[in-house]
Amino acid sequence: MSHEQNVFGGSKEPAKRTPRPFLGVQFDCCRTYNRIYINRDRTAFVGHCPKCGKQVRAEISPDGTDTKFFSAG
Ligand SMILES: [Zn+2]
Repeated sequence: MSHEQNVFGGSKEPAKRTPRPFLGVQFDCCRTYNRIYINRDRTAFVGHCPKCGKQVRAEISPDGTDTKFFSAG
């Protein structure tokens, strides 16, 4: 039984100085991978492609159980 639900997908790693949730994103535009970080309101993960700067956004569902909505551009 899981006693700790990992809401933020890719953030399960040892705590660093700033344990800020992030999400690993595959950018199809440049076939590269980057982390995007949660925004201040904790409503979405927002970041951009390291190569072309294309923005990507992953909405966090209101109940906080999943992150599955990606929109880029
Ligand atoms: Zn790109």
